[in-house]
Amino acid sequence: MIGCRVFSRRRFLLTSTCLAAGLLAGATPAWARSGPRTHTVQKGETLSQLAQRYGVSIAALQTRNKITNDTIKIGQRLVIPGIAALDSVIDATNSLRITRGRWKHVVVHHSGIEDGNAKAYNSAHQRRGMNNGLAYHFVIGNGRDSEEGGIELGPRWLKQLDGGHVRNREYNVHGIGVCLVGNFEERRPSAKQLESLTALIDWLRDDAPLGAKPKFTVHRWVDKNHTVCPGKFFPSTRLRLRYA
Ligand SMILES: [Zn+2]
Repeated sequence: MIGCRVFSRRRFLLTSTCLAAGLLAGATPAWARSGPRTHTVQKGETLSQLAQRYGVSIAALQTRNKITNDTIKIGQRLVIPGIAALDSVIDATNSLRITRGRWKHVVVHHSGIEDGNAKAYNSAHQRRGMNNGLAYHFVIGNGRDSEEGGIELGPRWLKQLDGGHVRNREYNVHGIGVCLVGNFEERRPSAKQLESLTALIDWLRDDAPLGAKPKFTVHRWVDKNHTVCPGKFFPSTRLRLRYA
């Protein structure tokens, strides 16, 4: 059973302790800083030096910044890609025909279980009568059945179909569904999962060819009093502040 699913008959106990107060203490982790990392090119710097400094590939830097050769200019602002996992998402998305302004929301979920990946959830959702399969557009792995922090694209993204991840029509038609594998009523999402999630949302808001800047939300804020998804240990409020 995938806990957050819309047609799940499982009843969730709604508690008043959904926010993990402990997350607010201590230094700001990388995923919580606002906006994507950027670098302004200084005299004498090369693409390969910058790739090495930031621990990313030259190809990733080129893709993220739409650079087709090795030339960078003094004063040029480069976006530093968060993770290599985003490269395949960018490549696949660039070949899609996306209706400008369609995607207005990003709705984050947890799967509610530690097992599974996009393929497994796709099969589960098909078995439950969802002809378009996987209800979400993206799935971010936890290292068990897919790479930790790896971003899998679902058929609904590749075919630009409505999601099936919430009860609310507006958010299924205009919301990009992103599911992190795990049960965040029991544990926090890993740093790698959050880095991938924020890199994905940064890109969707700032650089993806959407013709819109989708707003961040989570399942339980859409389907109020229906679900605890994405769980009390997911930093929903902190991410809402980041994307405010
Ligand atoms: Zn959900």
